[in-house]
Parts: sequence; structure tokens; C-alpha cells
Amino acid sequence: MAESWRDSALRMKGGVIGLARLSAPRGTADIMPQEARRWQELERVARQVFEAYGYGEVRTPIFEYTELFQRGIGEATDVVDKEMYTFRDRADRSLTLRPEGTAGVVRAYLEHRLDGAAQPAKLYYLGPMFRYERPQAGRARQFHQLGAECIGTSDPAADVEMIGMLAGLLRRLGLDGFEVRLNSIGCPRCRPAYVARLREAVASVVEQLCPSCRERYHRSPLRLLDCKRESCQRLTAGVPVLLDALCDECHGHFRQVRQHLDDLEIEYRLWPRLVRGLDYYTKTVFELISPDLGAQDALGGGGRYDGLVETLGGPPTPGVGFAAGMERILLALAKSRPQETASGIDAFVAHHGAEGRRAAVRIAARLRDAGLRVEIDYLNRSLRAQMKQADRQRARAVVIVGEDEAAREAARVRDMETGREQEVPESNLLHVLAQGGN
Ligand SMILES: [Zn+2]
Ligand SMILES: [Zn+2]
Repeated sequence: MAESWRDSALRMKGGVIGLARLSAPRGTADIMPQEARRWQELERVARQVFEAYGYGEVRTPIFEYTELFQRGIGEATDVVDKEMYTFRDRADRSLTLRPEGTAGVVRAYLEHRLDGAAQPAKLYYLGPMFRYERPQAGRARQFHQLGAECIGTSDPAADVEMIGMLAGLLRRLGLDGFEVRLNSIGCPRCRPAYVARLREAVASVVEQLCPSCRERYHRSPLRLLDCKRESCQRLTAGVPVLLDALCDECHGHFRQVRQHLDDLEIEYRLWPRLVRGLDYYTKTVFELISPDLGAQDALGGGGRYDGLVETLGGPPTPGVGFAAGMERILLALAKSRPQETASGIDAFVAHHGAEGRRAAVRIAARLRDAGLRVEIDYLNRSLRAQMKQADRQRARAVVIVGEDEAAREAARVRDMETGREQEVPESNLLHVLAQGGN
């Protein structure tokens, strides 16, 4: 059996591990209460938007069999190659902390036979993801994403639903400086011919490209298009564009996507270099970019993956989805609008004397049961210091109980805004405090 918490605590006390002060692992962060309020607000609005569009929440495991991501993200990607947290468990199974949400959601869709239920299946998720990357602003090793998947329809309106849902969420949060970038990456019918032309066009300059691009040239040529290095961009500036090489079906799909976007008055820019490098991604791809974020400027993105369900062992099933970075959304929000100060509490219960203290503990518990946010002194402060503390916590009112008030089953209530004070019977406290503008 593993060492109990108590044993390890004792060992630490003995100084074996306790010498160095531990910090959170590199690339992770604690979300402390004041900041957590902003997260809760983001989660609340996201759930509202998802539910309005008819999406239900799915909570998949934090780890999955490694093979799921190898198949569901693709072996020839940086994520699978270099960035996964993969480990063997005690039964020697290879497991991986999820680096993204879609593969697990599609696995759950198949495992719970949603392919046999009414289509499309509309699922959303939010939670932590894990990638071993070099930490920088807007990029952590444990980061958080929210996302949605619409599985079982090839309707272009579903693609637009994804873009509209993410744009709507950002706008509801108060972010509107973002830009929508749109492209189509074709399908297995039209893409191979394009990729061959792309390879041909790049062949003469391959040796001058960056090491990643030289590798991409062989393993995942589409991704040559989205290299961020200026030298690579210059060298590949004149290559043919996928949008000009789409087959009739892909072309028609893309035209309808653009029509729906226009109908919804969602502005977008065609971005011919926006790609996803894997075969099961098809047709529409998009990204929402914030000008406030610097190098890591994508708030979120997604696209159609008509080949993914089949790749994961299901029947041929079209699907489309998006994922957005919650840290990045919060970062962009913090830059675009001033931080609100934390809200105060409804009442601080101050007390003096042993009987006053007993009554105060009881009063605080009752007010909390009724749903008020109430604090009480646990440090035996003087009454004066308790008043100061109430002020610091921005209490709307202070309830003061001394020996005399306790004996009369009453308390003095001071309105912190007006400074007015009145004695109130204990039985009437809730009524009086609730009136104070809650
Ligand atoms: Zn096509
Ligand atoms: Zn490059």
C-alpha cells in the first residue's frame, strides 16, 4: 500500500523532504479565489451559450489510452510526437493525459452508441488539457479549454453554428475586437492533387526552410503553409492556394458556409494559409484571433473532421467542432476591460464577551443558511479591530452582539453606508439584513 498522507506528513516534518519549499510544477498555475470568480463567470456564460444551441455537457476522463490520441490526433503531429504526457500505469498500460478534447468526445460518442441515436449528437466540454510545451504567456502545460462537437451532419450550417457559437460567447463576455479567419482545406478527393502541386512548388527551396518545415515537407506538407517564420513565409509566398483547387462538392460547401456567415452578419477574412494538417480534417477550418494577445493570438478555432469517427473505428460519420483556450479568453478580457473589484459580503458578525461570541456563532450560521454571505471573527479581535476587518471585507452591515444583546436575544445592526445603528431582535435579523438592498 502507498504511504499514507499522515506518514508522509510526519516524514516531511522530520525534515527529509521538508527542507525545500515546494512550488507548483513548471507550466501549471493555481487559480486563487479572486481569479476563480472570473473563471466561474466564463464557465457560466459558456454553459448558457452551449445550452441555448442545444448542446449537452460531456465529461470524459482526464487520461485515455495513448492509442486514442495517436489515432485521433495523428502520429505526424507535434502534439503526439513531442508534447504528450504519456506514462505506464501499474498494469503496464500506456496512458496519456488528454492533450485536447475532441478525441475523447468522439470515443465516448462511439462507446455510448450515440451513432445509433438521433443525429447529430451535440456535445460540449470544458476542463484541463495537458501538453509538454515551453511555457510562455498564454501557453501552459496544464491549460484549459472549452469546446463543442457536432457529430453526424455534413450540413454547412453546422460549421457556421460553431463559428457563431464561439463568436457569440466572446461577445457575451464583452470581447469584440476579435477577427474570424476562414479557409477550406478540401477533402480526400481534391486534396492529394493539391498536395502534389504544393510539394512540386516547394521542392526547389526545401533546403532553405526551417527544420520543422523540412520535416513537414515529407510528413505533413499542408502545414508548410502555416509556418510562423518569416523566412519560410517568404520562400513559400507564391505557392498555389487550396481554395483554387477545391472539387465541386468542397467548393459548394464552402460557398454555403460563406452565405450563412453573411446572413448572420458575422464578418470574416479568407485566410488561405490556415490549415489543419491531418487527413481526416476536411473542408471548413476557422480561427478566432485576438489582437490583444501577442504571439499566441488564437482564442480558439476548429473545423470539420469528416474522417475522424471512422479513423477511431466508427462508421463513416461527418462532424465539426471547435475548441477555445480559457486562459487566453481571460487574458484578452483582462486586457480589454478594467478588472472589477471583488464584491463584498452581506454582513460581518462582530462580538464581545463569551455569551456574545456564542450568540454570534449561532446568528452567523442562521444567516448563512438563509443564503447571505456572512463573515465572523475567529481571532478574538477587539471590537474596534473587528469593525476594521468588516470594512476591509466590504461588509454591507455589521451585526454586533455583546453580553447585553445576547441576554436579550438581540443584536445591534450597523448599516456601513449610512452609519446608522439599530437594535434588532434575533428573530427579525434576517428580515432587516435582507432589506438592506440584496
Ligand atoms: Zn473536395
Ligand atoms: Zn518553417
